Amino acid sequence: MTYVITTLCIGSKDASCVEVCPVDAIHPAPEDEAFEAVEQLFIDPRLCIDCDACRTVCPMEAIYTKATVPPDQAASVRENAAFYT
Ligand code: SF4
Repeated sequence: MTYVITTLCIGSKDASCVEVCPVDAIHPAPEDEAFEAVEQLFIDPRLCIDCDACRTVCPMEAIYTKATVPPDQAASVRENAAFYT
């Protein structure tokens, strides 16, 4: 599986998820050059180990498992992966 950040992140980019991810799968981090340029953060599906830590700290409730992404956020699955290709 993997976890996915949806567009509910847009306007917040709180980045609490970046701090708690044990495998550094969420980018860009606030200290990264790309942080200001993106509208939201993304999870690398190749690195995510499904620990659930990011989902629980997100104040926007923007993070879902790939299997539970709401239908109106389905494009987020592809967009998270595309950020890393
Ligand atoms: S579920 Fe865990 S490993 Fe996957 S992105 Fe979130 S914090 Fe990182």
